[in-house]
This record gives sequence, structure tokens and C-alpha cells, in this order.
Amino acid sequence: MKYLKLSGLEPLIVTPESNFINIGERTNVTGSRKFLRLIKEELYEEALDVAREQVIGGAQILDVNMDEGLLDAQYCMTTFLNYVASEPEIARIPIMIDSSKWDVIQAGLKVVQGKSVVNSISLKEGEADFIEKAKYIKRYGAAVVVMAFDEIGQADTYERRIDICKRSYDILVEQVKFKPEDIIFDPNIFPVATGMDEHRRNALDFFEATQWIRTHLPYANVSGGVSNVSFSFRGNHIVREAMHAVFLYHGIKHGMNMGIVNPSMLEVYDDIDPKLLELIEDVFFDKNDQATERLIDFAESLKGTEAIKEQKSEEWRAASVEKRLEHALVKGITEYIEPDVMEAYEAYKQNALHVIEGPLMDGMNYIGDLFGDGKMFLPQVVKSARVMKKAVAVLLPFLEEQKKDSNKTHTGKFLIATVKGDVHDIGKNIVAVILACNNFEIIDLGVMVPPQKIIDTIKKEQVDAVGLSGLITPSLDEMVTVAKMMQDEGIQIPLLIGGATTSKAHTAVKILDQYHGPVIHVKDASKSVKVLSDLLSERYAEQYKKDIRAEYTEFKTQFLSRQKTKELLPYAEANVNKASINWKNYTPPIPQFTGSKVLTNETIDSLLPYIDWSPFFRTWELFGKYPAILDDTIVGSEATKLYQDAKDMIAILRAKKVLKPKAILGLYPANSQGNDIHISYKGKSTRLFTTRQQTIKKAGIPNLALADFIAPTATGLQDHIGLFCVTAGIEIEEFAKTYEQEQDDYNAIMVKALADRLAEAYAEKLHRDVRTNYWGYVHNEQLNNEQLISEEYTGIRPAPGYPACPDHTEKQRLFDWMNVETHIGVSLTSSLAMYPPSSVSGYYFSHPESKYFGLGKINKDQISDLADRKNTSIEEEEKWLSPHLNYQT
Ligand code: SAH
Repeated sequence: MKYLKLSGLEPLIVTPESNFINIGERTNVTGSRKFLRLIKEELYEEALDVAREQVIGGAQILDVNMDEGLLDAQYCMTTFLNYVASEPEIARIPIMIDSSKWDVIQAGLKVVQGKSVVNSISLKEGEADFIEKAKYIKRYGAAVVVMAFDEIGQADTYERRIDICKRSYDILVEQVKFKPEDIIFDPNIFPVATGMDEHRRNALDFFEATQWIRTHLPYANVSGGVSNVSFSFRGNHIVREAMHAVFLYHGIKHGMNMGIVNPSMLEVYDDIDPKLLELIEDVFFDKNDQATERLIDFAESLKGTEAIKEQKSEEWRAASVEKRLEHALVKGITEYIEPDVMEAYEAYKQNALHVIEGPLMDGMNYIGDLFGDGKMFLPQVVKSARVMKKAVAVLLPFLEEQKKDSNKTHTGKFLIATVKGDVHDIGKNIVAVILACNNFEIIDLGVMVPPQKIIDTIKKEQVDAVGLSGLITPSLDEMVTVAKMMQDEGIQIPLLIGGATTSKAHTAVKILDQYHGPVIHVKDASKSVKVLSDLLSERYAEQYKKDIRAEYTEFKTQFLSRQKTKELLPYAEANVNKASINWKNYTPPIPQFTGSKVLTNETIDSLLPYIDWSPFFRTWELFGKYPAILDDTIVGSEATKLYQDAKDMIAILRAKKVLKPKAILGLYPANSQGNDIHISYKGKSTRLFTTRQQTIKKAGIPNLALADFIAPTATGLQDHIGLFCVTAGIEIEEFAKTYEQEQDDYNAIMVKALADRLAEAYAEKLHRDVRTNYWGYVHNEQLNNEQLISEEYTGIRPAPGYPACPDHTEKQRLFDWMNVETHIGVSLTSSLAMYPPSSVSGYYFSHPESKYFGLGKINKDQISDLADRKNTSIEEEEKWLSPHLNYQT
């Protein structure tokens, strides 16, 4: 037999035994005001809750409709379907893409999972249009709802219903070769009991047409929107629910095998008041002239007695308010938080503080335990924090009042800031979120915060502890500056140090002696809660502080003693032991163009294939290599969810066209002279200063400097160098802010983490384009993304500030030479961080022997030479290269 087979993640096969297939209708903006509001406000997570409710309520197909004048239906359809795909609980059932706009249906078909149903097409615009659309749907393998509608209008009699359905069927099966079992007819369910004579046969005609279709049009199915029938009884739930049940009962008997029904608007047929049942059946079957009037009278008599029916479709909703709050927090469900919190507020004698300190903190502590035990992961915690923030926001008005009576509402006040000159804040934001949901009051000063502002805020706000964050090496010095100033001001509160380049060594060696208050390096955001709680605990803080100082003092001594032993090659000797490249038999490749080019043609789609996902998971403290991490026994399921959330966000970025990636690419004639690279172009010139390894190497191993990879002037060869800067664009920063303003840290962090990935992806893609096209020194490159990530390409793209060329000031030279800021809007901060933060800049070297390396430690002989070449001072060079100095300054 031929049966309609649909699928989400699981198959749905419609056989005669499957009774009746009910289609969830709440995810429809025209039918649900709540859903419309959620979509309008882009509260997709909560909109998902609506879908989930439908599935739990027994929907077997989910109808999704976004047709509302003020909505960008195409965008909403794509976004929501992407969200749905991320929730296996929902995505297991097939989707019905419901729209009267063809472009919305097309958009839906492109993203939907499994075998879906299109709702709907019809002969309204004529046969040619009908055929074209049917072919399109067939190509996507979807089933289709065909409305009984033709060039003249909607079928409103029995004859027109069967005529139009027959004509549609023949065209579909004979001309389009559509599988008959994939056709679902909707012969129009219209309201009854409207008082108009022409509506009297509305239900009956539907029933009879259904029977005809099921006997004369082999394998075709019949469906309909059931709630339409009771339209004239809006507001009267008892009557409406009974009408739906009765309609279904008879519809199914006549062969209707699917229908759009709201399960919560459905009475059980057997439970219907016999009097009401009789009146409804009289109306449906047009039994007598008084049928309508009688039903209306009866309905009137019911008014007022109607009880408000609570539909508790999810079991957890039946638990105590404390348990419900805990459940919402652990699962990250925001939907019921407002009523639940208010209920708790009443239950706790209108003491907002007790609600926070009681059930909410209990919930968060439970999450803390699960997190600590590795049963929950960072992304889940950030989602929980979002629920917590909403809960606190609900209580805030009451809290303000209460504050007068109470002076201690938080565990402690924590100031957090990314230091002056640095713009990176993903890690900082994660720490802020985690601490906030552990009841710390957070004062987040943002990025590029001058030291004086930090000092002033500590004093003014009487904060209990400070956290400083930074990503780039110059930030290490900024942190030392802040610590010194805190000491000078007599501040003694705990100081937490965090961020990519920070380390226990840096904290112990550079900060410990500058600041006499407690200072500690916090490696992972997740560690911050424990550290801070211990530091502020009344009972063991004093002991803990002593222990830290002892531990760091010991660490410092050890570290410095190890430092002293290092012997380096004298700079002059290192220069002699450079990379021995045979330039004699070498012809430097000539680029397709010289000078610079601004590029704006990349899109999110062109960059996606170049994303290196592993660092993305690292950002969220999920460690492992992509894609294996998705199947990891411990973090696999969380990584998979996070990855899906990332893909959902990408869909949003794509639909909203938020991403405006830009790049500047320069290719210039260049030659090396010693450790410098000379660039000259159109009468102008500049020099790049490279640094050379001084570590003592085994015989035959060179001491490298980047200059080695460019043909020396003395060879007489004309070589070239590439310079580039790419950015995901400033727009994405602003977009992240919109989430921050909604207290949605999870998505704000998500956007920034993705922006970083896209900037790196652009760097990867542009590098490939340079190799294969702009410079064109590689033909037929066949590297996949994995090979690109493991740097198997010919040539390199080292970035100033990274191991081969750690001197950030070279970035300034690169930016000045190409006017990067003017062209693509990327600027440099006082510490030479790039802003917007999701930017990458660097050089291109084409020589096949060029490779990435780390500078390692260097001595004063090189620093002094560098100061001479750059015409700066030794102190200046020591400052920028401080992590590489082999000596104490
Ligand atoms: N695929 C990774 C790349 C990270 S490395 C990601 O997506 O995050 C970031 C950049 O640093 C590289 O693109 C390259 O430009 C540069 N780089 C890598 N190793 C380097 C080294 N040893 N010295 C200088 N720059 C380096």
C-alpha cells in the first residue's frame, strides 16, 4: 500500500491504523497571540517552548506559520525552523511549512529537516503556477496540502469541493508525477452556526466531500483546520471544545485522516454534555431550521459558569514552586519564570530577598554542584544564568523597596574590567555571568578601562574584590600598573587576574610584590566562583589568603631560579646561524597585482567552510577537537547543543545580514637586509623589523627570523611580501550589544565567539586566495579545511603579537603603511589591540621553506640592536618584548 510517509528526526507513517494525525497549530502567528508576540520580540527560545508544549501535548506534526503583516515572514520562518532543529525533543516530529507566501515556503523548505509538508498550494493562480510550485515541492521531497481553491475562488459547496480536488489531483498525479499519497486535500472547514443561511451546510459539505475524495482519489489524504468551525463561538471554551471534538468524530468517520487541532481546545467526545452534543450534531448535519438558534441559546446559558481550564501539559509544572524554579534554572527554561517567581514571592510573604536567597539561590547552588561535578557544562550554566537574571528582574521592583530595610543582599560586590588598551571581553563576560548567578553583585566596567577609573570605582562603590582581564601581552603591564596604583591607594581587597596571556608565573613574578593585598591568577572562568567565595568567606578567608601568598611566593622563587640558568647564543652569532635558503636556484613568484586592495565580497556563507571550530568550544570551556568533540562521552551532548546554538545564531546573522566582513590586502616588492624587511612601492618605503631566536640550537638547526624568508637585497632577486587585515566588521559588536541589553548574555557571548571564528575563517580564506590567485604561487591546491587548520599550506601568515613576531608595534607599521583604519575601519588601541576585536592582521610569506616558529627568549644585545634600528630606546623595546626577555629589568 502507498502511505503518506513524513519525518522529523523520527518517521511518521500515516496508515489506516494510525487513526487520526493531529497537527499542532499553536506555532502559528495568526492563530496564537502569544506566539505572535514571542516572534515579534524575537524571543525564539520561548517560542520554542510553545512548540515543545505542542509536542508534549501529543501533536504529531507541527504547523509553523509566520504570515503577519509586520513580520519578515521569510526570516522568521528560517530562524524558527533552525531553532526547532536544535531541539531534538521537538524536531523529532515533521514540520508543516504553512504560508500563503511562496517565498516563505521556499525559505522553509531550504532549512527544514526530514520530510515536511507544504501548506499549501492551489489552483488559485492558474494551472501553470500550480504545476511550477508542485514541481518545486516535489524536488524538495515534501508532501503538499492542496486547498480546494481555484481561479474563481474558494470551494464553498460540495460540488465545487470535489471538482477542484479532482482537477488538482489529476494535474498533480498525471502531469507533475506527484505521488498521490503525498497529497493532502484541505476541502475547507468553514464556520457553522453563524446565522447565515448559506453557512448551514458548511460542516456537512465538508464531511461529504471528504468521503468522496477518499473513495475517488486513491491514496490522497484529507486534512483541515478544525478550530475554524467554531469561529462564531469565540470566547466560549466549553462550546468550542465540544464542537471540535464532535467535528473530528464525524470528520474521521468520513475519512478525514489529519487535521490542525489545538489539543488543549478539545473535549473528549464521551464527556460532552449530551444536550450540547445533540445541539452541535444538529448544527453540523443541518437537521432543522432552529439548530443554530438553539445552540446559541445554550451557549449563552453556559457563560459565566465556564471554569478557567489549566492545561498542565508538562509534568514538572505540577511540582512545588521551589522545584519548578529549580527545574527552570537547571533546564534553562524562561517561559514560566515570571508567574513562578511571583508565586514564590507571595509564598515567601512578599519578601523578594527571601525568594532570591531561598529557592533561587538553592537552584543556583544545585547548578553549581552539578557544574562542579562535571554534570553540567559552561553553556548550560550561562543559560541558567539567563533564567536567574530574568527571575531577579521580576523581583527587582520589590527589592528596591526592601533595600531600605536590608543592607546585605549579595555575597559580595565584584568589580570586573578589561584593562586599558585591550578590547577582548568574552572571558570577562563569562566570569561576570557566572559570578552574578552565584549572587555576587557585579560592576562590569567593560573594556579599555583606564586604571584611575578602576581605582575610583573601587572606592566609590566599596567593592569587595576586583578582577582584571586581558588577552594581549601589553595588558600584562597594564595589570601591573593597576596593582601598583591599588597599593599606593592603600587598597587591600582581593585582586583576581585572568585572560589568555596571563599566567600564574606572571602574577607571581610581576604582581605579587607590587600589591600586598591578596592576588591570585584564575585560569578558567569556572574557577572564579570557588576562589572568590573562599576569599570573601568569613570563616577561612584569612587562612586562604595566607596560603595563596605563601604558594605564590614559593612559585616565584622556583620560577626565577629556573630562569637564571638559561644560556643564549650571542645575538651576532645567532645572526650568522640564520635559515640557509638557497636563493641561487630560486625565482620569487610575481603577484597578480601590487599595491593594496579593499575586499568586501565575502559573506557568512563563503566564510563558513573555513571555520576552525575547536577554539570555539574552548571558549566555552569544552575541551576537545572538532568534530570528535561532538561524540565525546563526557562533553559530547553539551558540545552538540552548543554547536546547534551556534548554527542557529549563524542563521540569524545570515538572515539579518549582520555580518559585513571587510579586508585589506597588500602585495609589495620587498627584500631583506639583515633582520629587516624593506618594502618599497611607488617612491615610498618602509621597513619591518623582525626579531631572531637566540636559543642555543643543535648543529644544523638555524636561529630563525622572519626576514630569512624574504630574498636578501644582495641576491639581486625581486621578492615580495603580503600584508593583510581582515575583520568580521563593527556591526557584529553592535548586534551583540542588543542581546546584552536584553540581559541575554548567552547569546551576546555566542555572537562574539562566532565573530572571532569568522574573522579567523576570513584570514584562512584570504590566505588561500592569495596563494592560489592574488599572488598565485600555488596551482591546484587540494587542501581540505582540516589540512588548512594544521597549516599544511605553502608559505605562512604570521601575525604581529604572535610567537614568531611578538612585537605588537609592528602592527602599527602595517596599519600605517596601508591606511588600514581609513579603508576598513579597524583601529589600534594604545596597547595595539585591534578594534573591533574580531579582526586579524599579519604578513604573507610565499617561500616554500618559510614556517611558523616561536621567538623564545632574547638577550639585551638584541634589544639594544632593535632600539637602534627602530630609533627607539632600550626601555621601550623591553616594555613591548618583556615576556621574551632573558633577564630581569
Ligand atoms: N585556525 C586557528 C588559527 C589560530 S592562530 C583559529 O581559527 O583560531 C591565529 C593566527 O596566528 C594564524 O592565523 C596566523 O596568522 C598566526 N600565527 C600562528 N602561528 C604563528 C606564529 N608562530 N607566529 C606568528 N603568527 C602565528
